[in-house]
Amino acid sequence: MLSMEMTSMQRFEAALNHETPDYVPVSLFGGIFEVHFVPGMDVVRYGTSGENMAKAHIAFYERIGGDNIYCLSDMGLIVQGWGVRMKLPSEPDIHMALGKFPVKEPGDWEKLEVLDPKVDGRMRLYLDACRICSEKYGDSVPVGVSLPSPFTTTTHVCSMEETLVHMMTEPEALKKGLKTITDTVAEFINACVANGAYFAGYLVTRASWEITTEDQYREFGAPSDEEVFRRTPSMVNIPHICGTEPMFDLVNEWKTKHKNVKAISWWDRGAKSNLKEVKEKWGKSLALMAGIDHTNTLPSGTPDEIAAEVKDSCKTAMAGGGFVLAPGCEVSPKTPWANMRACVNAARRYGKY
Ligand SMILES: [Zn+2]
Repeated sequence: MLSMEMTSMQRFEAALNHETPDYVPVSLFGGIFEVHFVPGMDVVRYGTSGENMAKAHIAFYERIGGDNIYCLSDMGLIVQGWGVRMKLPSEPDIHMALGKFPVKEPGDWEKLEVLDPKVDGRMRLYLDACRICSEKYGDSVPVGVSLPSPFTTTTHVCSMEETLVHMMTEPEALKKGLKTITDTVAEFINACVANGAYFAGYLVTRASWEITTEDQYREFGAPSDEEVFRRTPSMVNIPHICGTEPMFDLVNEWKTKHKNVKAISWWDRGAKSNLKEVKEKWGKSLALMAGIDHTNTLPSGTPDEIAAEVKDSCKTAMAGGGFVLAPGCEVSPKTPWANMRACVNAARRYGKY
């Protein structure tokens, strides 16, 4: 009997909903790595034109495969609209960096105004990239965007140190800024959906105990996250935490309260909680997006070592669905192309249901 292969969209959706896909889907989190798939493209061209961004992701998807398209910008996309200046990259393979911050004094928080994703900052980039990619692939490939949560964004308009000081000394001023940022992020997410985005890699990078306490995050970060989830019913939100001590209980609470929160993405091979522990504790509720070490195996391993890691992760996490094979964060641009291919091939081999 012939078995029908699922489309990438069906595979990804099934995994996120704890249904049974044909194979474990792969989300490669390529970012700057994908810039190299278009001759003559560089980080600045990629980061300043939605058409270029789309070109890079389409070229990568056609060449390497995987099960989604994942637009990934530097951190200035939104906050440039509030006057953050960007610094050009000092080397070819790094993102543009944030320059001077507009919020210096507590009183500056209330000077921020809600931005329009169509015209302010560089948010238009994602709208164009999502439209081009979703027009090309229709419903067969999920298109995603990576964007910072409101609380993460506060530390992109103000320095991390000052933001943490304002949390203690000027909480009401900071909360005024957070309200404006939350309105902007929710609008932006909905505009991405309107242009064909299916999922958001929602960067809650500060929801990690080495940065804030859980009480602090619950007071300052979580209310704005939940507000965003409530206001973006058509986006599949996948909280991503770069840190080493993600607040899994908190993300799991969001999943139980909000239908549009589906999964968590974290660095399972570097964080304190590994794939096995998280699968056992939260894996029946949260879908898990993890399994490949972007700091070590993926850039430096051999294709065989990558296949072994994929095999191990599939064995640990694919049972019962709810597993997407993914690196813990953005892939290093120095990763050999053959290793990315090896990752996809191994997922098709060891991730078969
Ligand atoms: Zn990350």
